Parts: sequence; C-alpha cells; structure tokens
Amino acid sequence: MSRLSVVLPAYNEELMTAKVCRTLKEILDHEGISYELVLVDDGSSDGTWNQIEQISEQDPNVTAVHFSRNFGKEAAIVAGLAQASGDAVAVMDCDLQHPPETLVKMFRLWEQGYEVVEGIKTNRGKESLLHRKSAGFFYGIMSRATGFDMQNASDFKLLDRKAVESVLSMPERSMFFRATSSWIGYRSTSVLFEVQEREAGESKWSARSLISYAFRNIVAFTTLPLQFVTAGAVGCFICSLILLVYSLVRYFTGHAVEGYTTLLIVLLFIGSAVMMSLGIIGYYIARIYEEVKKRPRYIVSKIIHGGKKK
Ligand code: UDP
Ligand code: MG
Repeated sequence: MSRLSVVLPAYNEELMTAKVCRTLKEILDHEGISYELVLVDDGSSDGTWNQIEQISEQDPNVTAVHFSRNFGKEAAIVAGLAQASGDAVAVMDCDLQHPPETLVKMFRLWEQGYEVVEGIKTNRGKESLLHRKSAGFFYGIMSRATGFDMQNASDFKLLDRKAVESVLSMPERSMFFRATSSWIGYRSTSVLFEVQEREAGESKWSARSLISYAFRNIVAFTTLPLQFVTAGAVGCFICSLILLVYSLVRYFTGHAVEGYTTLLIVLLFIGSAVMMSLGIIGYYIARIYEEVKKRPRYIVSKIIHGGKKK
C-alpha cells in the first residue's frame, strides 16, 4: 500500500504542533491513508522541540528532525523531504492554515497519477494593501522567471517520490521550494484551497524579512535584474545622444546650453544609474559567493525515527 509522508516545518509553534499532529492523524486514519509525519524543528526558541520529541517517542509514524539553529523554512522543507520515505510527500505549514481536507484531495489526485499537486490559494488571508501589492510585484517577476503563474502559489504541495528526488538532486544552497517544484515539470495539477486563520501563535514574517526573502528568491531564480542593467545602459545612451545633438545644434545656432546645471543633472543621473547597477551586480556576486562556499543548507542536531533516538 502506498504511503504518504507529510513534511511539517515548525518554528516556534509550541501552541500548534500537538494539535496539528492530532488533526492530521484523525483525518488520515479516517481516510485509511497510510502515513508518516516528518516534523522539522527549525531551531525554535520555545517548547516546540520538547513537544515534537514527546510526540515522536510515542508514535512510530512520526519522524522528528531538530536543527542546530534557525535555518529558515526553505531549509526545513528540504530537510523534511530528505527524511521522508513515503511514495508521495506533502509539505504543509505547521499552523493549520493549510486545511488537512485539501491534503486528502491532493493524495487522491496523486493516486490518479498526478506527480506534482500544487495548492493554490483562493484568498490571501489578512494582508495590508501594501503587502498585497508588493507580493503581486514579486510573484509577477517570479512568474516570468519560471514561466508558471505563481500569483497564488504556496508551499502547500504534494510531490511524487520521483519529483522529490528531482528537488533533492538540485545542488543549489538557496532553494525556493515554491518555484522549484513547478520548475521540475512532471505531470502536474493544482487544487484550490482557502487559507485559514492562524489559531494560535503568530506569523514569523516581518516586513523586513519578507523583502529580503523576495530579493533572495528573485536572484536565486532569474537573471532578469541584470537585464535591467543593460536596458538602463541603452536608455542612458539614447538620452546622451539626444542631449548631444541638442547641445550641438544650440551651439552652432549661437545659443550654447547653460553649462553648470545641465552638467550637474547629467552627472548625478549617470552616477546613480551606475551605482544602482553596481548594487544589482554586487547582490548577484554575494549570492554566488554564498553558493561557492558550499556550506550545508542546514545542520541537524538530532533525529528521532518513531520512538528510536539517533
Ligand atoms: N517556519 C519555519 N522557519 C522559519 C519561519 C517559519 O519553519 O524560520 C514555518 C512555520 O513554523 C510555519 C510555516 O513555516 O509552519 C509558515 O510560517 P508562518 O505561518 O509564520 O507564515 P505565514 O503563514 O504567515 O505565511
Ligand atoms: Mg502560517
């Protein structure tokens, strides 16, 4: 019988972990689906690991992974995928914002032969207008980069074993799971789901962390910003040609262009364009630097396989 692994990255989720496990167990047992839960504690500073340890020691269907510190959700997802042994592997948040009923739907679609089942949000939960607009801009760029509509993409997905192996075979350090799982191809479909309200605990994202997450993922996935640099250079060149012709015409007709102001404007404009371009290129170099160091994506301090400590 085929087995489903559910990967749950958890960071400071002490209020939710036990409840999530209970809910998933009830639903999956009721549906007669054989399963394994892979709980990844992403270096929580609260009692999350204690909870996870307790759950896994009592239940042979739970694998628990403990990080040495907080490595971020993407790392926790990859660690979970690496530990999962099921024929199908689902990734869902550890806060019940991804409804477990949808998980069952995803599994049924997988049984019908789909190899990648993506969860698509029908709503974006409670978000400010600014948040929504900037998320729209970010996903616009990501959609162009991947060639898939990413506007309402989420990390709630189910992958076939083959697809999991493909994701794990990618050597890059900075993984953007949401886009990578579309990029790998395979026979895919999607299910719509409604993002639930968070019952307890709080979202781990601040405006600052979201902005840095967006930049990191754009750079990890596309070189489009580098093309902006080239486009900017072409734009500047055209402007300078126009200005040149204009100044020459003025000069030969006896009304030379006023020197100082024009010079200052042109200088400042070119200066900022060059610095901005350097900034973009510098950001890519920083990411390349991080990749070539080849540090591990995460460090595991402890793994518990259903009752047995390792
Ligand atoms: N998460 C994680 N590491 C982090 C931040 C978050 O593993 O550094 C987990 C978190 O425990 C949750 C999921 O990622 O299971 C989604 O986080 P959150 O609910 O804060 O995000 P939101 O739903 O607000 O997008
Ligand atoms: Mg959440």
